[in-house]
This record gives sequence, structure tokens and C-alpha cells, in this order.
Amino acid sequence: MTDATPNGTPDLSASGPGPGQAFDGKDFSGAERRNVVIVGSGPAGLTAALYAARANLEPLVLQGLEPGGQLTTTTDVENYPGYPDGVLGPEMMQDFEKQAARFGAEIRYGSVTAVDLSERPFRLLVDEETPILADTVVISTGASAKYLGLENEKRLLGRGVSACATCDGAFFRDERLAIVGGGDTAMEEALFLTRFAEKVYVIHRRAELRASQIMQERAFANDKIEFLWNTEVLDVLGENAVEGLRLVNNETGEESTLDVGGFFVAIGHKPNTELFEGWLDMDETGYIETKPDSTYTNVAGVFACGDAQDHVYRQAVTAAGTGCMAAIDAERWLAEHGEIAGVRTETEYHAAPAEDSDDHEPVQAKL
Ligand code: NAP
Repeated sequence: MTDATPNGTPDLSASGPGPGQAFDGKDFSGAERRNVVIVGSGPAGLTAALYAARANLEPLVLQGLEPGGQLTTTTDVENYPGYPDGVLGPEMMQDFEKQAARFGAEIRYGSVTAVDLSERPFRLLVDEETPILADTVVISTGASAKYLGLENEKRLLGRGVSACATCDGAFFRDERLAIVGGGDTAMEEALFLTRFAEKVYVIHRRAELRASQIMQERAFANDKIEFLWNTEVLDVLGENAVEGLRLVNNETGEESTLDVGGFFVAIGHKPNTELFEGWLDMDETGYIETKPDSTYTNVAGVFACGDAQDHVYRQAVTAAGTGCMAAIDAERWLAEHGEIAGVRTETEYHAAPAEDSDDHEPVQAKL
């Protein structure tokens, strides 16, 4: 938890983060200033962009390292309402982007590499060099795949180790493959891999899956899939490419080797929120904490949505929903504080009195 001043910004006099060296020598005096800067371009970010654009806030979306977010690494999306026949993930994200751009959202390639949320306008650094000032920030940085943390898993990443079956499965035609994990992602990816592979081993550390019933049933019904229960991966074998795995049965302690040509990791995701550590309140896993029934963070003017903030639902449709909330929260907050760039000058901005004590309480809808 970060100590916060009454206006909601972190208390830098204590052990606050401070802008850090990333900002040394960076001149923000002539920097581009935006009403709303959206960090991340998955369903949450692009929905926030759509709503903010339609509210005439001319939002800037900084796409981040994975433009379009995690859905660009999936194939069929069958559970997004409005697509009765399903839709390809990358195609859907292109549609999101087109729709936001149609109303004036600017979607720009680049990643925010440093932030200073100590005062408004907030200071952001894009790709370590370009300064941007933001009256409000919407964080929609999503989440990334987790890895087991084995040395050889890292060494062979991209050479047979992958965290995205839908991206890399087609490279493994007629191979024997393994996937670790017992959740929906592991089932979905195992099923996907059976399109190419000769056989798919699902390695799970327990004897019971975490995946939903329907996904379990589909996986159990596929005769190319074999489950290795109570099993953990000790090592990934191979010099220049994956040749096998060293496994252990955690009930019997028995070790074994499994010959496979590809190893997929599907053990969940972690939120991409390191950038905001020290500035924003987060839970122990790094999910940004938001005030109930809103996307308000502990810093007034900074809003969080999507998988960076939601550790419960983590669906494209819920991410889009919270993205919509973030844009509405930002819009109402800007209106309430009279801080829409172009309406208030820089001088007025800095001459403004200290923030109200209820500055970071959600602004109620005015119907
Ligand atoms: P998840 O539900 O958190 O499952 C992660 C799996 O990985 C669990 O089975 C867990 O084992 C295992 N695991 C975690 N750390 C591990 C480690 N260090 N070593 C070995 N195994 C480890 O993650 P997810 O499958 O990515 O799903 C995330 C969310 O997205 C869920 O809400 C899911 O329903 C949703 N989702 C939905 C769909 C769909 O509806 N089509 C598709 C994909 C994802 P334990 O079970 O022992 O903890």
C-alpha cells in the first residue's frame, strides 16, 4: 500500500517512489498534453478510447508491447456477445481499434516506460524518450503469461517453449507436445494443439482440473490428449530446441522423462502493473485496487480497468465493460474539476487551489 496525501497522490516525503532517473534531462515544458491518455490497447483500453473519443476528449492510446492485447494471440473467440458465429481474436481487436479511431481516438505505437503521478498533469515517458502530459490516465495494461521459472524454460523460449499455443501451435505439426496447467487456458490450448500434434500431454500438479466443466469435458473427449496427474515439470531438455521434459510425480516422488518436441506453458497470467508500483495501491499479486463500483485508483485522475485491475473475471467482455467505466469516470472527473485541456490553461492549472478533500471519490452520475 502506498501512503497517500489528502488529494490522493502518493506521499513522496515518506518512502514514495519519486519520478526516478528515467526523467532526468527530460524537458516537459513543451510536451504534448492530452485530456486522457490510455495505456494499453486490449478490449479495456480500446473501449475506454471509444467512449472517451465519443465524449470529445480526443484520447491518446499508447498501444504497448502487445498492440490489441492478449486476444491477438488467440484464434476463435466464441464468448464475446454479438458474434453468433464467433470471431477471430486479432480480427475483433482490429474492429475495436477501427471503431475507436472512427470517433477520433488516436492510437499510437509505443510503450509508456516511466510515470510520475505526483502531480497533475501527470508525466509519462514513452519509449524512454518522449514526454507526454496527461490530465487523466486510464490504465489498461492487461496481464501477461506466467512461466514456471526454470532456467532451461527461459533459454528455450521461442525454440520449442511457448506460452501461446494459438500463436505457435502450427509450427509443431505431427509432433508430441506437452502443456502444463489445469485451467481453461490449458484446456483450450491443449485442444487447439490437437489440430496439429500427434499427441498432447497435459501436465497438471493436482489430480483435479481447475478448468470449467465444459472445457474439461471437451479435453477428456479428445483422444489425442493424455493427462499426467500430480505431475510437475523439473526441467526442459534439449540443446537448441525442446527435446523433452524431466518430470516428477509429486505423490510418489518418481522422476521420469517425457519425449516431446514442444512445451507450452498455460499456468495463468500476471498483471502488467510494475510501472505503477509505488504509485498505486495494488494487491499482493500486483492487481491495481479500484474503489468499489468504479475504476478510481488511489490517485485522483488515474483510473484502472481490464485485466490490470480485475483478477476475478478476466474476460474480454468484462475488460471492455470496465474500459467503458474508466472513460466515463475520467470524463466526469474532468468535467467536475474543469480540467479539460484547452479549457484551462497551464497557468490556471498551476495556480489552482489545492484539491478538494473528496477529490478521489467517484463522481456520481448526473442524470
Ligand atoms: P487459471 O484459471 O489461474 O489456471 C492456472 C492453472 O495453472 C491452474 O490449474 C494452476 O494449478 C496451474 N498453475 C499455476 N501455477 C503453476 C505452477 N507454478 N506450476 C504448475 N501449475 C501451475 O488460469 P487460466 O487457465 O489462464 O484462466 C484464467 C481465467 O481466464 C479463468 O477465469 C478462466 O476461466 C478464463 N479463461 C476462460 C476461457 C474460456 O472461457 N474459453 C479460456 C481461457 C481462460 P492449480 O489448479 O493447482 O492452482
